[in-house]
Amino acid sequence: MNVAIKGSPVTIPKNLGTTGAHSSIHTHEDPQVIHLEFSGRVLRDDLRLKRFFELWGKQLSSTCVLDQCNGPDGKLSMTVNGQANSEFDRYVMRDKDQIEIRFD
Ligand SMILES: [Zn+2]
Repeated sequence: MNVAIKGSPVTIPKNLGTTGAHSSIHTHEDPQVIHLEFSGRVLRDDLRLKRFFELWGKQLSSTCVLDQCNGPDGKLSMTVNGQANSEFDRYVMRDKDQIEIRFD
């Protein structure tokens, strides 16, 4: 995943979600790759992009990302595998998705 605010890339932590209780959604050494890994039953809500941002401790909604919200300063947009996507936090991720979130 790539997140950019006004053209500046935001650093996503390595190994997010792999310490303590192992989360279905996590990153390893390359933080731009979100890995989905689970055994048995997994709740759809656990695979939503919102869950990743919760682990990260950051905000994502249909109108805000991190500390930026739609308004005179810019607007949030998202693409998944190159296609515009308006689900934002509700997007249910699939392994190896290329997710780009921008605020410009
Ligand atoms: Zn993994």
